Amino acid sequence: MTFDWLIVGAGYAGSVMAERIASVRNQSVLLIDRRDHIAGNAFDTLDPHGVLIHRYGPHVFHTNSVRVWDYLSQFTEWRPYQHRALGLVDGQLIPVPFNLQSLRQLWPPDAAAALQARLIAEYGMDVKVPILRMLEHPDPEIQHLARFIYDNVFAGYTRKQWDLEPRQLDPSVMARVPVHVSEDDRYFQDRFQALPRDGYTAMFQRMLSHPNIQLRLNTDYRALPPGLEWRRMVYTGPVDEFFEHRHGRLPYRSLRFEFPHVPAAQHQPCGQVNYPNTELFTRVSEFKHMTGQEIAGTTLAVEYPQPHEPGCNEPYYPVPRPESAVIHEKYQAEVAALSGTTIFIGRLADYRYYNMDQVVARALKVFEDSVEPLDRD
Ligand SMILES: Cc1cc2nc3c(=O)[nH]c(=O)nc-3n(C[C@H](O)[C@H](O)[C@H](O)COP(=O)(O)OP(=O)(O)OC[C@H]3O[C@@H](n4cnc5c(N)ncnc54)[C@H](O)[C@@H]3O)c2cc1C
Repeated sequence: MTFDWLIVGAGYAGSVMAERIASVRNQSVLLIDRRDHIAGNAFDTLDPHGVLIHRYGPHVFHTNSVRVWDYLSQFTEWRPYQHRALGLVDGQLIPVPFNLQSLRQLWPPDAAAALQARLIAEYGMDVKVPILRMLEHPDPEIQHLARFIYDNVFAGYTRKQWDLEPRQLDPSVMARVPVHVSEDDRYFQDRFQALPRDGYTAMFQRMLSHPNIQLRLNTDYRALPPGLEWRRMVYTGPVDEFFEHRHGRLPYRSLRFEFPHVPAAQHQPCGQVNYPNTELFTRVSEFKHMTGQEIAGTTLAVEYPQPHEPGCNEPYYPVPRPESAVIHEKYQAEVAALSGTTIFIGRLADYRYYNMDQVVARALKVFEDSVEPLDRD
């Protein structure tokens, strides 16, 4: 059987490409995934207690892109949700990212008021300041505050998450969790923040319901059944695996999740509590805050960062370090050489941490830039 397209991976990257090719180009797509489900890492499912959980860690959708929002809204209604997180610091739960409320909670009132005025004078209000930048500030009071935040909120979390010192990581990683000079205690400030009302998997099911799309789960690209043919391919799996690791393995960080069920209506005051210091886990998420599900009992996700062991656990986070960039460049050259027939896209194929909206935006753009020109051949 011959398909116009083979698409490897039914996460956001593969599913958006499949939907666009099927509905806009009216071409046939064979979409495969080696897992037993669609939706990639955004997959959600009911646990044995009936609680909707995210199997690969808590996923909160947020975006400023009207285009991405409108695109996904074709396949789902939304449940508005503003994510908030607390961190256990000095025996207290304080808002994270660290903000003016966190400052007032930890400092005596007069000292907090003075520091707050200094921060606003220096950086302005509602500004996110990377911690490494704040640490370099010449004012000893600001530096002292930055040092406290660095030591108690960032350093331990980062060591656990990456098994590296913060300064060994690309600054873009540290910039993801800045100090927020603001009263706004929301985790994200994006214009649109919500979860699909019926869950991520239901949204993907609608996206992939087009008759031009044939879906095969439990199907690995490296072991396809005989008799299948295709004209072009979209590949969203690990780029180094595609080229049989000929330039070496790209490093990843992994996670181990525990999903304890608690026989209580609610376990913690908000969706996410961070444990930056002594515990072995980094954060505990409570799904019911996010999904709004009304059910007795609640299920948590407890995250333990792990080294990635190929074949044993999931490659979650690309490790943004100069050594990885050197290897990645070699694979990028291989990818460029195949650009006439194969499109590489997604967090594993691009070896890049994307939020969900970023990967949707990228797929929509790649469809426009690469699929349409191919079809003119
Ligand atoms: C713990 C965690 C929490 C996150 N939380 C958020 C959040 O709150 N908000 C947010 O915006 N983003 C979040 N993200 C990011 C989000 O998960 C990604 O942006 C998104 O899943 C990327 O989609 P993708 O299609 O590129 O990759 P994936 O979802 O990984 O999909 C790739 C698919 O390809 C399949 N595949 C790979 N190789 C093969 C092969 N050889 N044959 C067949 N199939 C193959 C895989 O099985 C997988 O299903 C989070 C990520 C993690 C790790």
